[in-house]
Amino acid sequence: MQIYSKQILGKSDGPHLLITGGVHGDEFEPMVAIRRLARLVDPSQLRGRLTLIPVANEAAFLRGTRTAEDLLDLARTCPGRPDGSITERTAHALSQIIQTSDYFIDLHTGGTIMSVLPLTGYKLVPDEGILEMQRRMAHAFNLPLVWGTDYRLEGRTLSVARDAGIPAIYAEYLGSGLCDPVGVESYVDGCLNVMAELGMIDRERPASRVERAIDDFRESAGHMQIRNPAPMTGFFEPSVRLGGEVEAGNPLGTVTDILGDNIVEVASRESGTVIVLRTFSRVHAGDTLAVILEDV
Ligand SMILES: [Zn+2]
Repeated sequence: MQIYSKQILGKSDGPHLLITGGVHGDEFEPMVAIRRLARLVDPSQLRGRLTLIPVANEAAFLRGTRTAEDLLDLARTCPGRPDGSITERTAHALSQIIQTSDYFIDLHTGGTIMSVLPLTGYKLVPDEGILEMQRRMAHAFNLPLVWGTDYRLEGRTLSVARDAGIPAIYAEYLGSGLCDPVGVESYVDGCLNVMAELGMIDRERPASRVERAIDDFRESAGHMQIRNPAPMTGFFEPSVRLGGEVEAGNPLGTVTDILGDNIVEVASRESGTVIVLRTFSRVHAGDTLAVILEDV
């Protein structure tokens, strides 16, 4: 399985940083930001090595969907296997690249169907040294929310980094199938900020834009696909906005059948900030409608 990457080798020694996008095929800001980084980083000014993968899941990208044709989520399939289905093979190849790095940044968005409040996240790993480095990287990346979550979740790119003892962060920036130029710029800046934090480039640290930093040690915190499921198949109309506040028991929105005869109100299961909101109106029963960030 071939995963296309660009290598930028610095003139002097330093760490090996891996930056990936397109683990999901319908997340576009990361792909543009990583291609731009490939042109922007000057090897004569770089200490260490940069590996850039704009589209980790090419088969999914070519389909224009989150997953490749086997419908396996690459971010649930790592470390994969060399003789498996297309996503299992991609997971295997990607995991091997991750294992060669010293630091790792994985860029995402909400894809075609979701929108995510811009955030940088990491796993709350037991190793204090690695955890502190991940916090430094996430704060340096400089998106409004920094979120530490359950380190035990398996199958992710960050699970591979965790098992290899590699400090790793991921980022999210809106989605809805768009490619927001502000998101691209934020991602380019974020990666350069982390490179400066790691001593790989000289760059003035910008003023912090981090508004909230939350470490949520509860089990399965950070699992976005199991929250507030649609009660039936139909048309979802949200009554909350991304970034807004909601109380447990208050409506997130409604799901309606085709003629509008059956309208089911969906109550939020948690109180807190709406950090993920479904923006693609057709839902299947069980699909996540929203993720609420609780105050912990
Ligand atoms: Zn993703």
